[in-house]
Amino acid sequence: TVTKSTGSWYNVRLDTPTPEGDRELRCRVAGKFRLDELNLTNPIAVGDRVTVEVETNNDEETGAIRGIADRQNYVVRQSPRRKHDLHLIASNVDQAILITTIIDPGVKLGFIDRFLLMTEPFGIPTTIVVNKADRYEEEEMETFAVIRDIYTDIGYTVMLVSAQTGQGIEELREHMQGKRSLLSGQSGVGKSTLVNAVEPGLDLRTGELSDYTGKGQHTTTFAELFQLSFGGELIDTPGIKTLGFNYLKPQDVAHNFREIFAVSQDCRFGGSCLHRTEPGCAVKESVEEGDDRVTDLRYYSYLQVLEEVESQNYWERRKV
Ligand code: GDP
Ligand code: ZN
Repeated sequence: TVTKSTGSWYNVRLDTPTPEGDRELRCRVAGKFRLDELNLTNPIAVGDRVTVEVETNNDEETGAIRGIADRQNYVVRQSPRRKHDLHLIASNVDQAILITTIIDPGVKLGFIDRFLLMTEPFGIPTTIVVNKADRYEEEEMETFAVIRDIYTDIGYTVMLVSAQTGQGIEELREHMQGKRSLLSGQSGVGKSTLVNAVEPGLDLRTGELSDYTGKGQHTTTFAELFQLSFGGELIDTPGIKTLGFNYLKPQDVAHNFREIFAVSQDCRFGGSCLHRTEPGCAVKESVEEGDDRVTDLRYYSYLQVLEEVESQNYWERRKV
């Protein structure tokens, strides 16, 4: 199991532990592992199951990754630097957890929606954890209630926690127990502090790393997999600033805002409706009538991503 990726080297946890505990090998990639339909910057991700051949050189044991098992699922993001590249963040996860907060930094609903759009295509259950509850006054609690209602109504779990006071931490721990969770969030939301509250002593040194891969590519993102003492695993990812979706087609965007997709069954043009100016669009009708099946906030996020994807027009230029 790949536990860490830095671009050119991968840490791989072997299935056969030594009497001292788990055994990890530093591995390089041997061979080509490109996913044909994607333009990936990294062929292997944290969470991947790989076959490794042990090599010894200069007394150091390293490994060569020779094969990779089919992925149950994976999470990709558009490379922030090279817009035509996709970066594999992690694979084989049971759930994703987005950490956010209402103040310091202020919450951006658009970002929550973008994160959900990243996990939705694979049906990865996603939880929104709202941190820094200890700092919320009446106004922030009202904002929290709005967020909680929007996202629980469409089937996501929303939790209110404070890494500082411990509020909600036990509940979060239970939520993570026995599962492999991908943890993410914009920087400053308190991800490191929160992880420390969940698992005291876990040393998160995730950060930005600039690594020259020798193929003229720079990788600045790496994730790391940790085992949890109470059972389960955590994949920590570096703070995300922006999420782009030029790997999705407009139709994919429409299909992965789940409540919009649900309502689109009633659009005159059904699954091909993009819910903008089409006649007989049930989604627009729902928003205009304020019947809460599709909230205007989510609809606004949807339109923004749709417009972005269309103007970049990247999906049309892809080879596939
Ligand atoms: P990261 O960038 O997401 O890893 O955020 P950090 O864990 O470094 O936290 C950013 C800042 O928020 C630090 O000053 C933390 O002390 C603070 N912080 C984190 N969690 C909480 C919380 O629950 N309540 C309060 N009041 N501050 C918090
Ligand atoms: Zn429609």
